[in-house]
Amino acid sequence: MEQETDKTMPIIENPQTTNCQCFALTGRNIVLKADGSPITFADLTEIKSLDNNADLFEEQEFGICALSFETTEHLPDRFITKTIRQYFNESDEPTIFRVSRAKAVANWRQSTQFCCTCGTKLTESKQFTARECPQCGKIHFPRIEPCVIVLVSRGDKILLARHVQRNQDIYACIAGFIEGGETPEHAVERELQEEIGIKVKNISYRGSQSWPFPDQLMLGYTAEYESGEIKLQKDEIADAGWFSRDNCPASPQPGSIAYKLIHGLI
Ligand SMILES: [Zn+2]
Repeated sequence: MEQETDKTMPIIENPQTTNCQCFALTGRNIVLKADGSPITFADLTEIKSLDNNADLFEEQEFGICALSFETTEHLPDRFITKTIRQYFNESDEPTIFRVSRAKAVANWRQSTQFCCTCGTKLTESKQFTARECPQCGKIHFPRIEPCVIVLVSRGDKILLARHVQRNQDIYACIAGFIEGGETPEHAVERELQEEIGIKVKNISYRGSQSWPFPDQLMLGYTAEYESGEIKLQKDEIADAGWFSRDNCPASPQPGSIAYKLIHGLI
């Protein structure tokens, strides 16, 4: 008979005596007390009791104790939810890192239940944040998907695009996954050629951001226009154009690396 994956990793006896921060995460949202302050371990336990499928896990080395759950239907009024993205914008760097880590691990735990080599149900590793295959021995660690996000300038104008699939109401930077064998710079060149039809030069790394929706690492770049006319890849990009920084259409909010790139903050 198949061994069930433990729903819950071992929790230390009293997390509140450690430096662990407690996070309850649901979809793209985080739970806070109604006054906007962080929740406690007692709150986590209470929220866990509301959802039989809630997943509680802890990583002492990252200072997180987190609960991932699905339904907010029975959440008591003394709690509120806020988008994680908004919470990023209001939090200090150590907290942003911990929430990102908690969200990334929560996503991974939800999506990594069976061995991708032999299909056997996985068990919790006692040593790492990982799951092990009792059949073939493969150890499955949380994975990240590296992506590039690039702001292209042409004189005093910047390139912004409206995507077909995501955030349909806003104009943002061009972004995409780094393909096998590519460097981030290759990916920048390819994405701009494919999606917009232009060549760029002076590709320059500006900074990065974990984007655990579900598992991206965003590597932020700027580049300068070199040649070509805008020719959209219609299944990806609905519209694109050159805009002045002081006269942009609706664009990403604070809390994202796109915002920092667009507003010249990195
Ligand atoms: Zn296996």
